[in-house]
Amino acid sequence: MKSLKQQILLAICLASFCRNSLSNNLSVFPQKFQPAEFPPIQILSNKRNCENPLQINSVNHIQISAFATANQWGFLGHKTINQHAVFALPQPLFGFYKKHIQFITDHAVDPDQRRYTDTAEACRHYIDLDHYERALPIDTLPKYWTQAVEKFTADTLFEYGIVPYHVQMMLYRLTKAFQEKNLAAILRLSADIGHYVADAHVPLHTTENYDGQLTHQHGIHALWETRIPEISLPNYVLLTPNGHFLESPADSIWNAVAQSHALLPTVLKTEKQLSQNWPQNKKYEFSTDLRGKTKKQIHPKFVKSYEAELHNMVEIRMKQAIAAVASYWYTAWMLAGQPNLDEISNQILTEEATNGITNKSETPISTSTLPSRCDGSKHD
Ligand SMILES: [Zn+2]
Repeated sequence: MKSLKQQILLAICLASFCRNSLSNNLSVFPQKFQPAEFPPIQILSNKRNCENPLQINSVNHIQISAFATANQWGFLGHKTINQHAVFALPQPLFGFYKKHIQFITDHAVDPDQRRYTDTAEACRHYIDLDHYERALPIDTLPKYWTQAVEKFTADTLFEYGIVPYHVQMMLYRLTKAFQEKNLAAILRLSADIGHYVADAHVPLHTTENYDGQLTHQHGIHALWETRIPEISLPNYVLLTPNGHFLESPADSIWNAVAQSHALLPTVLKTEKQLSQNWPQNKKYEFSTDLRGKTKKQIHPKFVKSYEAELHNMVEIRMKQAIAAVASYWYTAWMLAGQPNLDEISNQILTEEATNGITNKSETPISTSTLPSRCDGSKHD
């Protein structure tokens, strides 16, 4: 019963959130979503001249090669997007985020890591549009959570993913953190919303066929969002125009999801055709890691051919994600009434503040009531 009660509480809170526009009255926001966790802050030893794009680029390449040693390549894209989004901010936010860029970058992957300990996490990273929509435009799914729950029920929404709704909720939380001048919460929520906005820009995060399992293209998910960046990221030029105030944050995230979904046929068809014409014994390579474990992965030649035939889609989506992340951060600060950033930035993050925040669930939903689709590591 407790879990059902918690779920109802969430629905009520979200309903309240959706009824009251962010820009109209922040004081009516629900109080239930207080920041609760925070991992240890890492001190930034930044000797960069971040004002100079050329130097930014060289620094980023150094950072990227450091990421590339990580086991989970999918993390590379998220860290890169959060990091570059800092450079896509107008002043004075740029100065504020630059000071905390190490944290924003390192914690870009927290939402994915939470999936291992929190079964409520998985469905926040995707939405299976093709479960609801026969074709674009999106005209079946309501834009706001309240209406969506009324139309489809929360259970169904959780089952097929909630990323556009969760981004709206995260914007509310980040706005509130700025309003309360809570540095710890601002940093954590900025890192988190960057992750979810980035996920919304991935075509395979918008379909039930998320890993090509319905079209005999297993592994295409990692190919698109992990293997391509792993190989090509050092060659990307990821400078983007500055982020801007989003007049309709809900429309913006739904547009991002719709654009991702529009790219889906190309993502699948291109891989299918290339794979059919590629000698199967040359599609993969085998390597041995430091522990002596043999690893099978798609051959770099196949990866590069696929990317070329996608006409740099991954790089383009990454740039669009960077600009979008910066825009959500900027919009939160604007909606909060542009609080004084020096005042916030000078706060000392105490041991208590940082230790109190871990990787627990963000919502008062009992994981036991969530459908199985939200209980796993699918849709990475
Ligand atoms: Zn994710």
